[in-house]
Amino acid sequence: MQPALETLLIVQDRDLRILALRKDIANMPRMIELAKTRLHGDQTAVAKAKEALQGNEVLVKRLELDIQTRRNTLQRLRTQQFETKKNEEYKALGNEVERYLVEIGRLEDEELGLMEKSEQLRAVLATAETALRRTQDLVDAELRQLEERKRNDEGQIAALTGERDGFAVKVEPQLIGVYDRLFKAKQGAALVALAAGQCKGCHMKVTTSTVLKAKTEQEITHCENCGRILYFEE
Ligand SMILES: [Zn+2]
Repeated sequence: MQPALETLLIVQDRDLRILALRKDIANMPRMIELAKTRLHGDQTAVAKAKEALQGNEVLVKRLELDIQTRRNTLQRLRTQQFETKKNEEYKALGNEVERYLVEIGRLEDEELGLMEKSEQLRAVLATAETALRRTQDLVDAELRQLEERKRNDEGQIAALTGERDGFAVKVEPQLIGVYDRLFKAKQGAALVALAAGQCKGCHMKVTTSTVLKAKTEQEITHCENCGRILYFEE
């Protein structure tokens, strides 16, 4: 192989690795988003559990107020009953007192049921919060790993770029110029093997004269189909 092409092959190897690393970095925002979507299910579960608990607590509060109002009335009725001198009124107030006691008892039972339900809802919320924390830990770890991977990629890109430039200066500027344009245009390999009469870039057969030209290594040979630089391979 022509020494210039051998050097160019090394340049290309570094360029391909740099390209892959750049793609990896470019893909990261999507991977970060993907990692975060894993939280959605758990976040929704926590929000729902909170809402259910708060809704139930509102009912408990409302019931407590109802009970208090009735207790106040009961107090008033008992005072009236104590103060009255009329037998009939005393009896009627007694009935009222009885009615309120029953009512308060019923509301207290209801409140007890709601309070039990609150306990259950609190347990559901605690479970959902634990699950969310666990997922959050996993996602955080994943995000840290991605951050580390990005730093690592960037470090490798810097090192490979240094190596690449070191080899590139050894290649004739005109050839490097052609190679750079091709590499950019093809988004990858610009220098490919010509084996069994076939360009390994576009996989098309090339003409016999192209094969001969590449084989004799007298000048730089391009694939007549895709324009890539060819090196002859037995
Ligand atoms: Zn080709």
